[in-house]
Amino acid sequence: MGYPVTLIRGDGIGPEVAQAMQTVVNATGVEIDWTVVDAGVDVMEQYGTPLPDHVLDSIRHTKVAIKGPITTPVGSGFRSVNVAIRKELDLYANLRPARSMVGVKSPFSNIDLVVVRENTEDLYAGIEFQRGTVENDKARDFLSTLSGKKIREDSAIGVKPISAFGSRRIVQFAFEYAKKNGRQKVTAVHKANIMKFTDGLFLEIAREVAQSYPDIEFEDRIVDNMCMQLMQKPELYDVLVLPNLYGDIISDLTAGMVGGLGVAPGANIGDEYAVFEAIHGSAPKYAGQDKVNPTALILSACLMLRYLGEEAAAAKVQKAVESVIAAGKYVTYDLAPPGVTPVGTQAMAQAIAEAVAKL
Ligand code: NAD
Repeated sequence: MGYPVTLIRGDGIGPEVAQAMQTVVNATGVEIDWTVVDAGVDVMEQYGTPLPDHVLDSIRHTKVAIKGPITTPVGSGFRSVNVAIRKELDLYANLRPARSMVGVKSPFSNIDLVVVRENTEDLYAGIEFQRGTVENDKARDFLSTLSGKKIREDSAIGVKPISAFGSRRIVQFAFEYAKKNGRQKVTAVHKANIMKFTDGLFLEIAREVAQSYPDIEFEDRIVDNMCMQLMQKPELYDVLVLPNLYGDIISDLTAGMVGGLGVAPGANIGDEYAVFEAIHGSAPKYAGQDKVNPTALILSACLMLRYLGEEAAAAKVQKAVESVIAAGKYVTYDLAPPGVTPVGTQAMAQAIAEAVAKL
């Protein structure tokens, strides 16, 4: 019996990168029982929802899923499937490693950072009041009276909830990740000098949690300073843990530092379930062309193998990806060195699979 894993292929370039990812995972010899399900715009007509119940039920059953990107049509009232999955399964930790690879163009080298972003709270909690509404009037009056501070009448208002519970579990997640993966240091990132109660609470809890992990160094940085430090001295940092908004921004910054979308893996993890996915979207203009880079989803599968306890297989996939990209021969258009004819998505995956088999 293999590990049960739900595979959501996604749409646009999703099915192509999903197939490429399966080719590489199969080459590791780790047995996976794939349950393939579909979500997104293509199943809308059949099920009346982009996220049919059987998709969530499948993840609840297998506990682990990997998904290709899913298109969120603009202005259609179509709820983001990605956000819905995170909410339904309480996947509170967004894990985004960023590691430099020889052969991937970037102004930085030797980057090896892991961003742990809180996924459920903060300004992204969706508590907002539109300008000019009755609810806004009430919220403004209430908040002005309570805080003694004037809020301009034509303001839109957003609320930033940060709980001790949410902060504790994300910081614990970051330390546990550091412990399991031989990482030396966790840095909590915040703006507690200004947002004394919200970010202040996040920092207070981070300091408290850090005391339970004496073998892992802990420090904190103010988010603006963190941005500058990442540009100037990225080698000083290891695992970063952040509330939702800063995590969203910094994780794209670190992805950019190692070469961008085509190579950036990710995972959304909770206490019971984990869903692995590339950072990039469904790139509809490239759909069906066997053209795009499969690396991001393959590296997401590498995170999945590690999560399943298959460390040796994960290490092989990582090494194989790095060697194929460094060799620069069987790589897609975005990675091909000058003068080299790029190969397609499946040919690159095949080259990585062959490299895995040789390790
Ligand atoms: P995108 O990531 O799909 O594409 C932006 C550009 O990045 C592409 O045109 C392409 O040039 C490049 N790119 C992306 N992935 C690549 C790859 N694997 N290899 C090589 N080049 C690659 O972003 P977008 O155009 O803003 O979004 C398209 C759709 O995807 C939207 O509907 C959006 O909502 C959705 N989306 C989904 C997810 C997800 O499912 N996790 C994430 C982001 C965006």
